[in-house]
Amino acid sequence: MALNVFVLTGAGVSAESGLGAFRDEGGVWTQYDLSEVATPEGFARDPAKVRAFYDARRANLAGAAPNPAHFALARLQAGLAARGGRLFLCTQNVDDLHEKAGSTNVVHMHGELAVTRCHACEATRPDPGPLDAGAACAACGAGGMARPHVVWFGEVPLFMDEIFDALEDSDLFVAIGTSGSVYPAAGFVTEARRMRIRTCEINLAPSDNARAFDERLYGPAGEVVPAWVEGLLA
Ligand SMILES: [Zn+2]
Repeated sequence: MALNVFVLTGAGVSAESGLGAFRDEGGVWTQYDLSEVATPEGFARDPAKVRAFYDARRANLAGAAPNPAHFALARLQAGLAARGGRLFLCTQNVDDLHEKAGSTNVVHMHGELAVTRCHACEATRPDPGPLDAGAACAACGAGGMARPHVVWFGEVPLFMDEIFDALEDSDLFVAIGTSGSVYPAAGFVTEARRMRIRTCEINLAPSDNARAFDERLYGPAGEVVPAWVEGLLA
């Protein structure tokens, strides 16, 4: 049977690849004040500080490799397509580990770390870094406006229309490695239930809205996700 699956991934999928979340307690990024490095106001005040923060994150990303959870989701995408279905893979992560594992058409609702955006005209281009403070934008000519293509606090997540259309067309909604506390993504499970779509949570431990899910699987993503994918494709 052709199955349409919507998977939302969060920081828990990348944690086993050594990429800590913004908010992880004791994580490397908590030594920074997010109002200074992850807001449009912070960028306006001190663009050099913001660029240095993201250059460090880009360097961290360059050394990171996908883990078995990323590879399993790439297998799921191929397996569902071979059966006439599809995987809509939506991620809150700004890393490129899904792509490195072989997934395609990944929807990055919070943007992508290794893409540079012009803060003036929003033109984007792939750029592993470092962010060039002096370069003029090739699209609009503005100077000094290079920023990471990452959704900051106070900015609207990307692709929301496409995401809700895909959710509506799905038979199964699965949240993997998400905290259940960052909106709008944390509200997807409620939308899915409203549309009578079956829901499943896969996480290290129950998330903030675990009770909203029909099915719950707990353990390290690198172990639980491959087992779940094998079961679904069996
Ligand atoms: Zn521009």
